[in-house]
Amino acid sequence: MNQTNLLIYGATGSIGDSVLSLVRNNKDQFNIIGMTCNNNIKKLSKLSEEFNTKNIGIARFNKNINYKKYFPGKKIYFGLEEFPDLIKIKSDVIILGISGGSILNLALNIAKSGKVIGMANKECIVSLGSIIFDLAKLNKTKIVPLDSEHNSIYQLLKAYKHSYESITITASGGPFLKRKRNELRDVTIEDALAHPIWRMGKKISLDSATMINKGLELIEAKYFFDIDVNKINILIHPQAIIHGLISFHDGSVISFMSQPDMRVPISNLLFKNKRIKLNDLSLDLANIKTLNFLSVDTVKFPAVRIAREVAVLGGLAPHGFNYINDKLTNLFMKKKIGFLDIVNFNEITLNKFFSSNPNQKKPSINDIVEFNKWIDRNIYLGE
Ligand code: NDP
Ligand code: MG
Repeated sequence: MNQTNLLIYGATGSIGDSVLSLVRNNKDQFNIIGMTCNNNIKKLSKLSEEFNTKNIGIARFNKNINYKKYFPGKKIYFGLEEFPDLIKIKSDVIILGISGGSILNLALNIAKSGKVIGMANKECIVSLGSIIFDLAKLNKTKIVPLDSEHNSIYQLLKAYKHSYESITITASGGPFLKRKRNELRDVTIEDALAHPIWRMGKKISLDSATMINKGLELIEAKYFFDIDVNKINILIHPQAIIHGLISFHDGSVISFMSQPDMRVPISNLLFKNKRIKLNDLSLDLANIKTLNFLSVDTVKFPAVRIAREVAVLGGLAPHGFNYINDKLTNLFMKKKIGFLDIVNFNEITLNKFFSSNPNQKKPSINDIVEFNKWIDRNIYLGE
């Protein structure tokens, strides 16, 4: 049988865990040619031994570490600058499972690769938007969304070729769905990271608590499906069984259901025609009994309103929303700002930028770099 050669950026994270658990149970079908981490070399060392992976990427170099001891006989690529070199090694599918928006250059290189990409990282889609999809088209790169909502829409659109009226992505509502806004002021990092449904990395868990995650996903959907923002709906669905819906002109709606587990979208990428048995994920609706739906309270979660405004503005605005969020979530994790400040300061900073600078409708990478410098100097962090 022909093996699929896989390159996994972010192998030590939560997406990496899901990919590797699928590969672990189907080892004869895959060859992992490369895997990367930021600094969790102990985990990467174990994984590279288990999967006999020859090429290793480590983003954060530490001169006090004897890397040869952890990775005997392997080729090591150090720093994000060297990560694109891994693309040159023969691979069929590349998973981009690194978190955050610091990998724009890597994402651009991946878009140029001409390979099949399993795109988990939403930050680079939000920041680069059409730049990334134009490059992919030019280079015949196939970018498949792994974000569960987008993957479900992607699967539905493949199955139903009719023209549609709108799409809907669902949101569990995160850990604070049942709290009042004034109860959110003093929430701790632990409260914010305790997602009721999904086990994910810290950044996306925090983004789910502020609902910035759903805002980023709205923008992600705009670019992935090349669709008008006002045709993308967000629906709160606490059980997270339905992930995406498509509404047709005749009022009919189709939905995609599965257990909330990232192995579902990832297996759809890795196994043709859904030829994989995932017994532990079978869906017993009689047992689940109830599926609830609510609309988003954008007063409690202004991130969703701001994301919609930013998505309509386009140009530099989505990147701004994302870049400022990366900075503010870091500050919250360091206990430098409060939970509500994450979204409030983002909106204030964006307003400050656009009141004194024009939006670049089709920003270049240089525009993005200049914008970041402005934000680094002028980000609003309270009086
Ligand atoms: P994790 O925090 O669990 O893992 C992140 C991975 O990226 C780790 O391998 C980490 O290495 C590596 N990494 C982090 N920062 C850097 C950096 N600056 N340079 C190089 N590598 C880095 O995140 P998730 O797996 O949860 O999320 C990954 C991406 O997928 C995010 O963009 C997220 O939005 C998206 N996503 C995740 C979902 C999920 O269920 N987890 C669902 C939908 C989307 P190390 O271990 O060494 O720190
Ligand atoms: Mg999602």
